[in-house]
Amino acid sequence: MPVRPKERFLVFGSPLILQEEVDEVVASMRSGWLGTGPKVARFQSDFAAYVGAPHAAALNSCTAALHLALVALDLKPGDEVITTPLTFCASVNAIIHAGGTPVLADVDPRTMNIDPERVREKITPRTKAILPVHFAGRSCDMDALTSLAREHGLFLVEDCAHAIETTWRGRHAGTFGDLGCFSFYATKNVATGEGGMVVSSDAERMARIKILGLHGMSADAWKRFGDEGYKHYFVVEAGFKYNMMDLQAAIGIHQLARVEENHVRRRAVWEMYDRAFADLPLGLPAPEEPNTRHARHLYTILVDEARCGVSRDDFLTRMTREGIGVGVHYLSVPEHPYYQQRYGWRPEDWPEAMTIGRRTVSLPLSPKLSDADVADVIEAVRLILSEG
Ligand SMILES: *Cc1c(COP(=O)(O)O)cnc(C)c1O
Repeated sequence: MPVRPKERFLVFGSPLILQEEVDEVVASMRSGWLGTGPKVARFQSDFAAYVGAPHAAALNSCTAALHLALVALDLKPGDEVITTPLTFCASVNAIIHAGGTPVLADVDPRTMNIDPERVREKITPRTKAILPVHFAGRSCDMDALTSLAREHGLFLVEDCAHAIETTWRGRHAGTFGDLGCFSFYATKNVATGEGGMVVSSDAERMARIKILGLHGMSADAWKRFGDEGYKHYFVVEAGFKYNMMDLQAAIGIHQLARVEENHVRRRAVWEMYDRAFADLPLGLPAPEEPNTRHARHLYTILVDEARCGVSRDDFLTRMTREGIGVGVHYLSVPEHPYYQQRYGWRPEDWPEAMTIGRRTVSLPLSPKLSDADVADVIEAVRLILSEG
């Protein structure tokens, strides 16, 4: 018998959706206003207030947010943007689609975040921006990155897809750089299904991002159909269709209202794992740095075959067979054929990210997990390691 039979399979990253979200979506549907409207406006201002950013633009994904943030930097062909090899492909693809050249700087093996010293080595006269990712919810070293950016006159765009609750010296991730990009994908700490947000203190750049997110039209389309009389719109640049719907914001408003409560639960689950795995030959997440707050988005363990007697890929298969959903965050970017072919990248050239990517496993960390669910995850991990 597996730890959890098929009908009780523990889905990785399943969001905690309560009645408030359901009611708000239904109210949106009954109101007839499904698209971008008052709920998006409210979610935007609630989110800006939560992270302490003067401006926010709600979009339909973090990928869209990263794309527009980089388009708004007006990259010229050959302009380089330095990012981490230990990230989701969207961070790199956004650089490419904005017309830039991605450059990778390896991670610090302890924090798994981009190493500012490696960033410094990659800076050239063509470098235009740094795009750090707060991996798993742990803040990057924002003192080092902001001073590097200032010293070399570079833009800083933060990928905060894992980092909604993250702070560094009391200040929220996403508010250090010129622009911060967040995700509300189904597995993220605030989930709207699909959704994203750009935050910034730069009013002008944000006004442009809002225009770019809706076809390049000069005024909010939703105001056109309001009761103030018909207003013409004018297209001022070739934009994109990246706006968030009220249906999504309806979920986000209530998800955001419970983000702190959920964080308490994530932290408790995290501590249960830390205690339960302390005696096992696994690599465990490093403790939270003083004066920072970890968003606890991903609990990642490292399965080194030499120490654990089981390969990472076999461990993934066996966890799934035990009825526990797992994730991999991430195979390093240079493992993927597209980037190898286009840029000649080889995983060995970023050895820290490569090693992590070949050993890492993400365990369930949803606030929806009961203590019994957590006990099942622990039992499955211990069982697989004991069988070797
Ligand atoms: C999820 C994620 C994204 C993309 O977010 P979407 O909202 O799914 O577009 C980008 N970067 C990182 C690091 C992510 O984890």
